[in-house]
Amino acid sequence: MAWKTLWQDVLDLIYPPLCPACNHDLRPAGLMTCLRCFSQLPWFSNCDLKDNPITDRLAGRLLLSDGFALLYFVKEGLSQQLIHQIKYKGDRATALAVGQWLGHQLVKDLKTACPWDIIVPVPLHKRKLRHRGFNQSEVFGAGLAEVLGIPLTADVLHRPRAGQSQASQGQESRFATVFQTFELQRPELIRGKHVLLVDDVLTTGATLESCGHLLQQHGAAALSLGVIAVTQI
Ligand SMILES: [Zn+2]
Repeated sequence: MAWKTLWQDVLDLIYPPLCPACNHDLRPAGLMTCLRCFSQLPWFSNCDLKDNPITDRLAGRLLLSDGFALLYFVKEGLSQQLIHQIKYKGDRATALAVGQWLGHQLVKDLKTACPWDIIVPVPLHKRKLRHRGFNQSEVFGAGLAEVLGIPLTADVLHRPRAGQSQASQGQESRFATVFQTFELQRPELIRGKHVLLVDDVLTTGATLESCGHLLQQHGAAALSLGVIAVTQI
């Protein structure tokens, strides 16, 4: 592992990585984008709980302790390009980097000990996982877990049915489909725990609502959400 990291560092020195948001400028070591994109990204700054757009979007649907994101998702903007690079261009390193970056922000803002016990990522169907090579939500969660110093488990939530692309469905059928998509195994891993459920993008919240209900039905004591980006309504 150390050799792999060292080799990657050597490669980065010879071929500095390109910025995943603009694919143009070079990305300095330690930053997740180039300096220009970094200054222009639509950062999500968390507000008081009563004004939190993440918990507000799930209000009345899912009981949440907290919710946070790294970015706002802006169509055809830098944040969409960053997400596209992670999801469709196989950029695992950026998925990990955004998780680490959000983790550092959370650690900075935490006034008490880390309130979460375990991180659970929204799963991908195995066919999509094979095609994509990794689950972007799991790698994002791994970056968070590393910085927060808590475990991550991908053994709890499963997605046995692939389902249609959500974009091709109306809102009503989208909710119905999502609710039949997930299953939960090994509830002992989350029973009595404050679970941090993570996903890439929060849009309607149907996916997170479905996964969150499963976790709560199987004994999670509290639930918070963490996403890379949240869409603006
Ligand atoms: Zn850039």
